[in-house]
Amino acid sequence: MSHGKGISGSLQDDVPMYTTSNGCPVKDPEASQRVGENGPLLLQDFNLLDILGHFDRERIPERVVHAKGAGAHGEFEVLDDISDITTIDMLKGVGKKTKMFGRFSTVGGERGSADTARDPRGFSMKFYTEEGNWDWVFNNTPIFFLREATKFPIFIHSQKRCPQTNLKDATMFWDYLSTHQESVHQLMHLFSDRGTPFSFRHMNGYSGHTYKWIKPDGNFNYVQIHCKTDQGSKTFNADEAAKLSASNPDWNTEDLFRAIERGEHPYWTCYVQVMSPEQAESFRWNIFDLTKVWPQKEIPLRRFGRFTLNRNPANYFAEVEQVAFSPSHLVPGVEPSADPVLQSRLFSYPDTQFHRLGVNYQQIPVNCPLRAFNPYHRDGFMAINGNYGATPNYPSSFHPMRYTSTNASQSHEKWVGSVVTKQTPITDDDFVQANGLWNVLGRQPGQQENFVQNVASHLCNAKAPVRERTYQMFSRVNGDLGATIKTATEKQS
Ligand code: NDP
Repeated sequence: MSHGKGISGSLQDDVPMYTTSNGCPVKDPEASQRVGENGPLLLQDFNLLDILGHFDRERIPERVVHAKGAGAHGEFEVLDDISDITTIDMLKGVGKKTKMFGRFSTVGGERGSADTARDPRGFSMKFYTEEGNWDWVFNNTPIFFLREATKFPIFIHSQKRCPQTNLKDATMFWDYLSTHQESVHQLMHLFSDRGTPFSFRHMNGYSGHTYKWIKPDGNFNYVQIHCKTDQGSKTFNADEAAKLSASNPDWNTEDLFRAIERGEHPYWTCYVQVMSPEQAESFRWNIFDLTKVWPQKEIPLRRFGRFTLNRNPANYFAEVEQVAFSPSHLVPGVEPSADPVLQSRLFSYPDTQFHRLGVNYQQIPVNCPLRAFNPYHRDGFMAINGNYGATPNYPSSFHPMRYTSTNASQSHEKWVGSVVTKQTPITDDDFVQANGLWNVLGRQPGQQENFVQNVASHLCNAKAPVRERTYQMFSRVNGDLGATIKTATEKQS
């Protein structure tokens, strides 16, 4: 029986035509082809196969943490001049605005779990800056349960379901926490009423980790970022949260969506705590310890901006489910500190996005930077953005690319171990062993001649400047070798 016929027959041209996934218009998408009135289905019915096959693949792996969340688009604005401490492009100039996307979440529950669970909240922002996407992958607490990287997956296991009963398990929960007592500070936050925020709109966000804001001359400060809700911090007590878990488990998701729909655009004021490397060395607290804050009386907050969430996603899956944050999505002027938990997150977040969304997850529109040009990344599932066409997929001498300059390091870096980003330079030493092999070949009659001919018959197909550079390279192996290869090659070019 056809349900669609009556509609499709009479509609205007500007109404979209329903098609199969390959664009073929379909007469009746709800009808399937059968052998006669009551016979079996036909394998030739592509519309049916298309619908079933797609439906069977609708689910992607849910986030192993932060699975349940809500998000919205927005805008960041610089409120104060902080050019004395940073040259980050997004923060240059009072009034400068940057488009963004934010996502909030619970941590431990699955995608269908209750929003009002006692749990930290994820607080992630993606800023589409002129110099790439800058992600703030924060929480609503300024600290966390642990300070060692390997403990993260282990700790999360203890807060999830029991492997035998598939139930949340208070013994597991407290067994871990009472045997890993560095978590007590976070437990104080979690079991205060801030453990059950009233809504995503009414909670703060904290970087928790220490980052470095580094200037082009190599000078840097350590920083922690605070985002304070301008809606006011508001919480549920345990009873209220438990009741909502039953009556409206999607309360926070709904609250955010409805508020934006009503035009009540939530906003947060952003502050930074700034500490010099010298201060860090003698500070009372280890600044790379994620279980500690920087007391605000000693390191005051300095205001620098505000972001506002002002547009709901048009499609939850495309935007909220597929948005992919990582603390390693940084921009010039920001570097990770040596905090080991941050360091491990730099790896783990892109790794999980590769698994969840695929290697080309940055090509999904909500993740797409304003500009990206990395033609050394090639292929892989869903290479949909033209795959860089004919641009060489290696550093080609025919297609030069600009690279940004790296920052100089400072003496303080010795305290944490200096990071060096460089290639090992080519020296005469690199040719010594190649020369040794050339001499070995000379011990056997004909081997050197074969080598020269083998190179020449291949090299003759390369363009002239490449041939010339290669002759010079072989000259460094042996005084005559470059010239010998040149003579043999040019005869064949
Ligand atoms: P301060 O008295 O200078 O700061 C305390 C901060 O605690 C406030 O600025 C406020 O930050 C936050 N706060 C207020 N009420 C609550 C609450 N019910 N639950 C959790 N946090 C609250 O002291 P310190 O900076 O020395 O910090 C003292 C303790 O406060 C810390 O050990 C930490 O547990 C907590 N805290 C500290 C923060 C920091 O970055 N120093 C940030 C948040 C909490 P806000 O406006 O951000 O809520």
